[in-house]
Amino acid sequence: MSKLYFYYSSMNAGKSTHLLQSSYNYKERGMNTIVYTAKIDDRFSEGKVSSRLGIHADAKLFDENTNIFDEIADIISTDTCDCVLIDESQFLTKVQVKQLTDIVDTLGIPVLAYGIRTDFLGETFSGSAALLAWADKLVELKTICHCGKKAGFVTRIDEQGNAAIDGEQIEIGGNERYEALCRKHFKELVWDRQT
Ligand SMILES: [Zn+2]
Repeated sequence: MSKLYFYYSSMNAGKSTHLLQSSYNYKERGMNTIVYTAKIDDRFSEGKVSSRLGIHADAKLFDENTNIFDEIADIISTDTCDCVLIDESQFLTKVQVKQLTDIVDTLGIPVLAYGIRTDFLGETFSGSAALLAWADKLVELKTICHCGKKAGFVTRIDEQGNAAIDGEQIEIGGNERYEALCRKHFKELVWDRQT
């Protein structure tokens, strides 16, 4: 039985590394995978998933207009696909997450989606909310706060070195940094400073 998996975390928990390892495991057994990442992410060259450990793989790109179900259905009319892996899946639309459920339920292909659960204000992304609601399996990839507790939250550090308390959910081309924090420290830095 194929399943839709959502591997979620805050920043810097090794999502891309986990994705690349999973894809490699399929290929090592002679199976084919298709990897997607968001076009919105311009940290790296287009069409690549890169891990902080230095490994990378070519990827197809999605934006809000991509019909991922149609693309996979088209590919398997001439080739094989044993697993679909999606990085930056927090940026998927609700409609696209439904397409992922169709890839699993209609085409019988497992889908592994990797993404950030909440943004720098603690709110869910569209893709993460739909994946948390509809995935068959939820798997948390953990990282730790500076205090040693599990870091489930992420803050955006502005140019002055402070945690941002407002702004756009997605900043394209910004030089901002992100830091993973536990809920207690996230609240002190963000929610407690909001009016
Ligand atoms: Zn903490």
